[in-house]
Amino acid sequence: MILRVALDVPLPKLFDYRSEDATRADIGYRVLVPFGKKRLIGVIWDVATKSKIADSRLRPVEKILRDVAPFPREWLALVEFCSAYYHSPLGQVVAAALPPRLRTAKAVPLPPRDYVLTPIGRKALATTPSRHRRLRALLERLARGRASESELHAQVRGARSLLRGGIETGWITPIEAGRSEPRFVHAHELTSEQRQAIGILRGGLEKFLVSLLFGVTGSGKTEIYLQLIADVLARRKQVLILVPEIALTPALEAAFRDRFPGACIVTQTSAMAELERVRGWLLAHHGRADIVLGTRLAVFTPLPGLGLVVVDEEQDASFKQREGVRHSARDLAIARAHIAGAPVVLCSATPSLESFQHAASGKYELVSLTQRAIDRAVLPAIRLIDTRVHPPQEGIAAPLLEALATRLARGEQSLVFLNRRGYAPALACPACGWVKGCRRCSAHMVVHLAAQRLRCHHCGLTEGIPRSCPECGNPDLQAFGRGTQRIELVLGKKFPQARILRVDSDAARAKSGLEDLLERAEHADILVGTQILAKGHHFERLTLAGVLNADSGLFSSDYRASERTFAQLQQVAGRAGRANLPGEVLIQTRYPEHPLHQSLVRHDYVGFAKSVLAERREAGFPPFVFEAALRAESHDELRARRFLRSAIDKASHGGTSITVFDPVPMSLARLAGVERAQVLVQSRSRPRLQTFLAEWSDIL
Ligand code: ADP
Ligand code: ZN
Ligand code: ZN
Repeated sequence: MILRVALDVPLPKLFDYRSEDATRADIGYRVLVPFGKKRLIGVIWDVATKSKIADSRLRPVEKILRDVAPFPREWLALVEFCSAYYHSPLGQVVAAALPPRLRTAKAVPLPPRDYVLTPIGRKALATTPSRHRRLRALLERLARGRASESELHAQVRGARSLLRGGIETGWITPIEAGRSEPRFVHAHELTSEQRQAIGILRGGLEKFLVSLLFGVTGSGKTEIYLQLIADVLARRKQVLILVPEIALTPALEAAFRDRFPGACIVTQTSAMAELERVRGWLLAHHGRADIVLGTRLAVFTPLPGLGLVVVDEEQDASFKQREGVRHSARDLAIARAHIAGAPVVLCSATPSLESFQHAASGKYELVSLTQRAIDRAVLPAIRLIDTRVHPPQEGIAAPLLEALATRLARGEQSLVFLNRRGYAPALACPACGWVKGCRRCSAHMVVHLAAQRLRCHHCGLTEGIPRSCPECGNPDLQAFGRGTQRIELVLGKKFPQARILRVDSDAARAKSGLEDLLERAEHADILVGTQILAKGHHFERLTLAGVLNADSGLFSSDYRASERTFAQLQQVAGRAGRANLPGEVLIQTRYPEHPLHQSLVRHDYVGFAKSVLAERREAGFPPFVFEAALRAESHDELRARRFLRSAIDKASHGGTSITVFDPVPMSLARLAGVERAQVLVQSRSRPRLQTFLAEWSDIL
């Protein structure tokens, strides 16, 4: 037989190998094969009787790895879809989709089993002398009924080796572990809006359907999907939930465990240890996990009984994978639900404009919530501080300082938000205008005063802070602009009695992680932080949110910037006044009349979305046209440009329905020493764009 194998090499094809005893039942198994001088792990994609390769040149497979059950058709279909849609070689998508452990030939952990005593074992127990204390304890426990390895391990020291011995002598035997019934703990009486929403969503549980659950922060979206999950689990189906932030998963995981006692809940994030990750992955693959909760990489977890997919904060940028096999986990989640014939629920307070447009056009089912779930919680009042009228001193305008002082006096908590880590975003020489750039990227280096270092936020390069200007020798270098560290110091001077805590990824790294930091954040008077603070977290006493640099996204060359800014500002606003205390949001801006800010003040996402969509329709931007980019990366800028030029010359077959633009440097043109440029291709028809891209990549 010929095995056609997907291998992790940058070629868009399958590789043929010989195997004497293989059958079609081997499709989906991992396989170890020779490749050149190396050995690679691949996945058997197809089994055939003939190959185009001459018999003499076909090499035999080394070993079919049958320790992991073959990946099911639906999983193969998802990988194929991803490969075709994003024009990435199949084998590379496979590699991206597998947990690291399964990309090696190393043994995988066995699926957890339960153990029981055999009749011989029962007799043996009666005659086992009491001096074999641990063995007796183990046998006695098993005599009372089945037990899992982990339970035995917790009760009897050395249980693992005793078990192994017991299995060899035939006293003990493993059996398929029992799956306990997941239960659901009801926590709240639903509001009438929530009841209505869940009624609609329940109606669509039997088939593929995309719903957009759109509701202001605190409107109880999480509560709704928890209930929906309970319905799906009651049918013994599996649920996949994608969330944006790795750091937020522990809190959410804890909430899930509280609400679904008895359920087998598996998390999947890139921060997990290799074995832990693959263990969860296999539980899902074997159909034993009830709930898989994870970040974007979880979209590839095989789930034979998939009954529901939830994407929380569906607009979040972290669902996009920008390196390696580029893809959007949100879009793949939809493709996945389609393949499985299951519904998918996208949740957001500020949906991506693409999803919003699909909901408006009826392609997605729109389910809206307009009120906060807790009676007393009202939406915060959002006010704009015109910085032309109130020029900020050291970054903070007088009205915001006053508001902070009031909160301090009342013993309430405030949040000062700015999306810039470090002390200052640039180090410059006021005498000659020199600015410290990263030598590997087209970006400035950021001053980190706490660490006494300069750091590039793009490639991670760090350097010491120079004592004088390398151009003119001026010893008086200045840190320009403000980051969280600087604002923390400024606030410390203004409010010496206040407990001030900075929450950003630097602080999370320096302390013992974000979870710890967020716990300590409960007790601070003033929090200074980046978007880490804006997402998901609840602060009971927080009544004021101040935003320092709200204008950075308003006039960006990237047409998506305004969408992102709105989502982010609304997320920050959502932190204020969640429970008993009314909240207030103050936004410093030079452009208070800007439509984005005006919509924000009115809590009018819909108005904002409609106006931006109208602009995009006019200007021919997505989602009204479909777009793809051909990127070139090279250490030599000229080569990258030449490649793109020749690619454009070869693209003449596109016809009138395809527009190919000139090559342009990417917005961060140099990253870690690599020059990056791209060619944009647009079309009003997605199928035509896809056909064009397929033909184009064949030529290239
Ligand atoms: P969202 O996901 O829309 O931001 P959540 O589901 O997190 O909102 O709910 C916000 C808060 O309201 C949470 O503290 C939640 O426990 C609470 N909550 C949700 N639904 C209800 C309800 N029906 N009654 C009372 N409290 C609720
Ligand atoms: Zn100088
Ligand atoms: Zn750099």
